[in-house]
Amino acid sequence: MPSALAQLFLPAECLLCQAVLPFARSDDLVCAVCRHRWRPVRPPWCERCGQPEPHFGPCRLCRDWPGALERVRSAVWLDGPARRAVHALKYGGLPRIAADLAAVMGKHLAPPDEGACLVPVPLAPRRLRRRGYNQSEALARALGAAWRRPVRGLLARLRETATQTTLTPAARLANVAGAFQARNGEAGMRNAARSRRSALVLVDDVFTTGATIAAAARALAQAGATRITAVTFGRAVIPDFT
Ligand SMILES: [Zn+2]
Ligand SMILES: [Zn+2]
Repeated sequence: MPSALAQLFLPAECLLCQAVLPFARSDDLVCAVCRHRWRPVRPPWCERCGQPEPHFGPCRLCRDWPGALERVRSAVWLDGPARRAVHALKYGGLPRIAADLAAVMGKHLAPPDEGACLVPVPLAPRRLRRRGYNQSEALARALGAAWRRPVRGLLARLRETATQTTLTPAARLANVAGAFQARNGEAGMRNAARSRRSALVLVDDVFTTGATIAAAARALAQAGATRITAVTFGRAVIPDFT
């Protein structure tokens, strides 16, 4: 039986723990208990990149980021239960789970200023065709509806980059350099940001070292964006590079 049809006849279950969902919450894919197990990322953190502060010296994670990228925040730590939710979003063919993830982002993250617009981190065309949807766009749409901010596809991805979690932040930056390009260049940016004070908010599913977000921000900045922030659902626990 096709899964959409099956959902009509079976009692709704939590995607992660298979607990039966209460009738009033049967549109959710993740139950309240599982959501409660997602650990919010909390301060103290680096004011700019949102990573817990290093014990000594300045933050190395965001040192080489483009100047226009002002602030990045993530809703929850990407450990067990949150990782399974992201996996379902990316590989489970379940863009609908984006609503559950975006609800948690909306709960833990401050909404952007009036006039800001959300910019999903794009996939390269081949990956988009294979997956059928861009998980970051699904998140951005759900968040945009909650925050009442428009979603603009201002970026194109020229190539996909292999996930290389073992690389240092500097090596990861080099790895994704030039992977993104702004669509319609400066004209697109002028339309998106009515005033130069309007922020563009990059939206992605996961933050690992921030290299992808930094590369995306660099492409927006090169096209004229001056204020860029970013939000992600999950933040990977990375080894200490200091
Ligand atoms: Zn559950
Ligand atoms: Zn930092």
